[in-house]
Amino acid sequence: MTAGRSPVLGPDATIGILGGGQLGRMLALAAAKLGLRCHIYAPDGDSPAFDVAHQTILADYADESALDRFAREVDVITYEFENVPAETATFLAARCLVLPDPTVLATTQDRLAEKSFVAGLGIATAPFAAVERRDGLAAALERIGRPAVLKTRRFGYDGKGQATIRDGTDLDAAWNEVGARPSIVESFVPFEREISVVAARAGNGRVECFEVTENEHRNHILKVSRVPADITAATADEALRIAGTIARAVDYVGVLAVEMFVLREPAGHAVLVNEIAPRVHNSGHWTLDGASVSQFEQHIRAIIGWPLARPVRRGRVEMINLIGAEVEDYVKWLETPGAALHLYGKSRIRPGRKMGHVTRVFAGGES
Ligand code: AMP
Repeated sequence: MTAGRSPVLGPDATIGILGGGQLGRMLALAAAKLGLRCHIYAPDGDSPAFDVAHQTILADYADESALDRFAREVDVITYEFENVPAETATFLAARCLVLPDPTVLATTQDRLAEKSFVAGLGIATAPFAAVERRDGLAAALERIGRPAVLKTRRFGYDGKGQATIRDGTDLDAAWNEVGARPSIVESFVPFEREISVVAARAGNGRVECFEVTENEHRNHILKVSRVPADITAATADEALRIAGTIARAVDYVGVLAVEMFVLREPAGHAVLVNEIAPRVHNSGHWTLDGASVSQFEQHIRAIIGWPLARPVRRGRVEMINLIGAEVEDYVKWLETPGAALHLYGKSRIRPGRKMGHVTRVFAGGES
């Protein structure tokens, strides 16, 4: 039986997950809730997802014999991070169903391809220009203007591989800060707020979005998500429309997140797309406690061909990331009425490392 491109698997199926971080861990827990088993493939022994999985493989992403065994031991493969090497994805896709289709990775792993793709759909982004080498940076800045943000095309996350360029910024220093690699330069957006939409798309084309989430970053790392976002209904509709358009354009199956900037303009608010994450996303963690279905369960449902749920929010919700040593305060959160604590089981605390999160749901008139 198939529902569009994804076969309908039974509750006895085994799901393969590439990547062993907290997203893989929460996917495996959601799969277990539905009676399914997960098999985690990760190259790092200290992988939080290993603790909650039925089977694990500890091997490099280039290890073809391990990948081959993994493909034979599972019914469908998904991933919890977007930097899956292209060769790994191609190798697996020749042996097993991989969802979302890994062709989306070529677009989302490269900021230039991603921004060009979004712009090609008629969706606004910050003005951007490609910078292949250091000697092209000044000309690109002439076109884009300052302030601007220089970002490496590949492997940037949580603000890594980024440099803000203002009047007087030393261009050599900025170029070195992003690792002297092919980059893009884009206008600095004086945004009013940052939002995201977490959307699920099924193999039969049905799309279910969670409500728009408002995100507050500290040091480029997500710190707090709030739902509902403090935006107008028209802005929310536009954000949801954008996420649906992107999911349909890549024939996506699974959960994806679209990060956006809301900009106040004389004629109203504009929504600009910053980034697409082809996976479950930190800004959707609130759904674990704050909605009738979580983003993790929606992703599992989509890739095994089960019906998507229509998410219902339980109240006003706040999700707070516990970053680095903040996790040591976990007892405070255990004692906070209405707070739900999630720890990722990471043994080493490092500055900037996401160690867990807390969700607070304010069901009635509480604030
Ligand atoms: P990114 O790695 O592109 O998701 O960027 C991380 C964070 O840097 C974003 O969530 C914003 O807070 C900030 N940022 C990225 N690009 C821009 C921009 N063009 N203008 C202003 N802030 C930005």
